Amino acid sequence: MRPAAVRGEYWVDGQLVVVENIPAEVCSSCGEAVVTLVVHGQLDRLFAAPPAPRRTLSVPVYDFEDATPAADEARPTAEARAD
Ligand SMILES: [Zn+2]
Repeated sequence: MRPAAVRGEYWVDGQLVVVENIPAEVCSSCGEAVVTLVVHGQLDRLFAAPPAPRRTLSVPVYDFEDATPAADEARPTAEARAD
């Protein structure tokens, strides 16, 4: 694990929000980011009383229906299942 500032995406009251520069520990092998309980609490308080956003993004939205599988990937696999 190594310290890094990461970007997180969250749904808050039905709205997608992005938080940048979250202090986290990132796994050197798989890249997974882990935040401490203290940082978690800070994010909860940020979302409970959000300040004015630094900037606003507009994001493209896709439907998986528009994705075309390769011929040899057409069958669903165990990894493709959403848990
Ligand atoms: Zn890992």
